[in-house]
Formats: sequence, structure tokens, C-alpha cells
Amino acid sequence: MKQFDVVVAGAGLWGCTVARVLAEAGRKVLVLEKRAAVGGNVRCEIDSETGIEVHTYGSHIFHTHLDDVWKFVTRFITFNGYQHKVLARYEDKTYFLPLGLTLVNQFYGLNLTPSELPAFIAKEAAGSKEGAGLNFETQAISFIGRPLYEAFIREYTRKQWGMDPRELSADIIRRLPVRASYDVNYFSDYRQGIPLTGYNSLFDRLLDHPNIAVECSCDWLTWRDSHSELAGLPVFYSGPIDALFGYRFGPLPWRSLRFERERVAVQDYQGTSVVNYTGPDVPFTRIHEFKHYHPEDAKVMGSASTIICREYPQTWALGDEPYYPVDTPASRELLALYQAEAAKQANLIVGGRLGGYRYYDMDRSIGNALETVQSFLR
Ligand code: UDP
Repeated sequence: MKQFDVVVAGAGLWGCTVARVLAEAGRKVLVLEKRAAVGGNVRCEIDSETGIEVHTYGSHIFHTHLDDVWKFVTRFITFNGYQHKVLARYEDKTYFLPLGLTLVNQFYGLNLTPSELPAFIAKEAAGSKEGAGLNFETQAISFIGRPLYEAFIREYTRKQWGMDPRELSADIIRRLPVRASYDVNYFSDYRQGIPLTGYNSLFDRLLDHPNIAVECSCDWLTWRDSHSELAGLPVFYSGPIDALFGYRFGPLPWRSLRFERERVAVQDYQGTSVVNYTGPDVPFTRIHEFKHYHPEDAKVMGSASTIICREYPQTWALGDEPYYPVDTPASRELLALYQAEAAKQANLIVGGRLGGYRYYDMDRSIGNALETVQSFLR
């Protein structure tokens, strides 16, 4: 395949979804990926000793209530039915998140019913500030009261963001659900799971089409200079939007992570896939134990050793791996400048987590890619 109709720069979930839909619409697509392999931060490695699927860039659990996304993704893979639970370790006790009847009753030593919980929480939060102008801390206390905030939120958030929670936006805490039930499923989407054949198979299958050619270890930002035959083609770009313009207004700020992986000679280290450490006594935020993502795989579950990963949030500097966009009024302004530059270029479509400077759940990334490419094809 020599002649191409479209370039897709970046082969994460967004780029691979775009490439597939374009290919099925008859376009000849060149996919370029800067890293040595496709899959973006969803990429996994299989541990040769145990067969454990290690999520290289931290745990990824697919969950969605979007019908079109579910329909699209299940054309390529089958999910194993895994339902995500997150535990929280605080002062040598282990609790079930999210904040709900299970956690509150255990934490306070009570036996509240669903109808009693809201009044109890309101009493705990009594006297806290309300209304506009709240920061992360005042918003959190008005939601759940001070004792729960101090045990499960304040220190975790300080570690996660490297800032005093009073300097953070109230929006972040709105991502954390509070439930008046014993439901300890971390997500409220019943369509949930891990691909039976592993995450990498999703990317291989998305890109397995006669109209798609893939080049890895190819950075579009340098490749385009030496490939004049591609000039003028539509480009779907999902790398960092500021890199696309040589950081001319300055780099957009990110929060980074460092993962410390360890093989432990026990069959089961923590009995579940993720435990959050919500106190200041340890410097990491959570421990992932990947074998628990495949309860259907007897060989993996029975392996004599296990692989765990401690997650340490890090300050970010240009060149570090970007994970979470740091949403502040200044970063929004900077983003708007880059978006205005992108809008000036005909045939350039920017998206994905890095291109959109947005923290996307996987289903949202696919959903956005489907919408973007369908409107391009109309
Ligand atoms: N959070 C917390 N304690 C926890 C889990 C989350 O304080 O045990 C806060 C923290 O500020 C975090 C936000 O809630 O940034 C969102 O958490 P979520 O689990 O959605 O983050 P993700 O897993 O997507 O990084």
C-alpha cells in the first residue's frame, strides 16, 4: 500500500479507533506511532514466568454505559466480566471504597440503613461551607464531613496532586461517588471488564485491516519533514497539542507517575487488584496486583508468585511521561491558545488524552474518536 488518504499520528485508543473507522469507510490509512509499540498507556506486558498481564502504565479497567462504544469495542474483543473494587488502607484497617454504607458503618462502628445514611452524613458535614467558591477541601467536607475527609481523602489527594487540597479545584472530588448502599463496585457501569485475550489484542485487531499500514518508532512531528508525499493529507493527531506547535506558548502542565514493580514470592499479595493507601505514613498512593484482573485464568491465579506495583505520583517536567492534566485557570488559557492554532490548520484534527489535554476514561476516548471520525466522514 503506497498511496495514503489519511495520516493517523498516535496509536492509542483514540488513534486506533479513528484508523479503524476510516479504513472501513474505504480510506487508506497510515498510522504512525512514536513509541516502539501501539496501544498508548493501555499497553500491557505479559510476564513470561507467570503469564500475568502487567498494565505497564497503571491499572486500566474498561467500563461504560455508552451503547455505541460497547457495540464497537465488543466487535473486536470479549470481556471477562471482572467487576472493579477498590480497597482503602487507613491506620492498619482495610475498608471498601467508594464511600458508602460498607465504609461508613465500619469506620464509625455503626449499622446505618440506606435511608439513615444521608441524614448521618449531613450531620457530620453540618456547619461546613456551602455554595460557590469552594475549593477541593471545603467541597469535600461539605459532602462527607471532616472525619471521613481526613481519613480517606486529604492525604491521598495531597500525594496524588502534590498540592494542598485547599489549592485544588472542587471539580476533582465530584469524580468520587458517595453511595447510600452496600454496593462496592467502584464504577456504576454494569458493562465492565478486562479483555479475555488481553488489552494488546484489542489494538492488534483494531489495526488488522487491509487499508491500514502501521509504522512504530515514528514521530509524526519529525517524520512529516522528510515525507513530502504526505503533505496536504488530513491528519488525525493525538500527541501532545503543545508539542505540535513547538511549545510556542509554553508547555501545558501535567502530573506524572512512577511505578515501582516488584515480583513477590507469594501466590496472593493483597487479595484484590487495587488497595489505596490513604494515610501520610507511606509515600505511594496505591498498590496494584495485576493477577486479580483475570480471575477466569486458573494458571495466572494459581501462579506461585505475583506481580505488584506501587504507584508514586511525581512532579512533571517536559520530557517526563504525562499522566493527568493539571486543570487550573492558567492551563485552560494556555490550552485555548493551542486550540486556536490548531483550528487555523485545515485538515488537522487533534484529539485523545494528550491532544485534547483531557483525562479520559477509556470509553470516553473511544466515544470521542467515533464522533470525531464520523463527523469527518459526513
Ligand atoms: N481520592 C481520594 N482517596 C481515594 C481515591 C481517590 O482522595 O482513596 C481522590 C483524589 O483526589 C483523586 C480523586 O479522588 O485524584 C479521583 O480519584 P479516582 O479514583 O477517580 O482517580 P484515578 O483512579 O482515575 O486516578
